[in-house]
Amino acid sequence: MPNTSPVADSAGVVEQELALGEAAGYATVQPIGAVTVGQKGERLAELGAMATSRAKVRVFSDDGFCVWDPLIMRRALEYVKSFNGVIAQHAQDPRLTEGAQMNEGIVSAELGLTGWPAVAEESIIARDVLLAEHVGSRLHVCHLSTAGSVDIIRWAKKRGINVTAEVTPHHLLLTDELVRGYDARYKVNPPLRREEDVLAVREGLADGTIDIVATDHAPHPSENKACEWQQLRTEW
Ligand SMILES: [Zn+2]
Repeated sequence: MPNTSPVADSAGVVEQELALGEAAGYATVQPIGAVTVGQKGERLAELGAMATSRAKVRVFSDDGFCVWDPLIMRRALEYVKSFNGVIAQHAQDPRLTEGAQMNEGIVSAELGLTGWPAVAEESIIARDVLLAEHVGSRLHVCHLSTAGSVDIIRWAKKRGINVTAEVTPHHLLLTDELVRGYDARYKVNPPLRREEDVLAVREGLADGTIDIVATDHAPHPSENKACEWQQLRTEW
């Protein structure tokens, strides 16, 4: 008999994901739960049900979307404290990045493309490390990409805030100069940044401010990338 309660559903999905990983047997698959229902950012998902499921979910993220509402973020951080969980944030202020096509800077101005400013990432990270400190909970920052973000995480760690951070290989290696060729493979979110940012994330990784390199890989069929720059949707 199908169980249609939302509690059973969210636990059921993560358990199914765990089972599929076990059945395939190629790698350890650890499901991450959503923070909000449908990743819509409006109300908390059933974090407790996922935590107590067979998948024992400890990390929750709406990755692809930012948990933008500060009260929802606060509640999520408070909730996971009871089982030593982590909220992993995709730091992107949605209002500051509406219609964004690439990093906001000299190159975007020259190309006439709408920019995704560094402050849209940094303002969310700054807010969230302070919220994590306020409630005494654990925060993970997904794919940080700017020099300012590295500075904020460095400051937060020095202050004793329980935060970890990751960077992607492409943000360690590539800059927004590549957008000039309009090759849609370079359209990623967060966008490729400036040379100064690349140097800063490398320094952050070397000095331990950034804890881990993570690919942030999301499979897109190649036909979806074979289109004009403006038409390509990433995880905006
Ligand atoms: Zn993301």
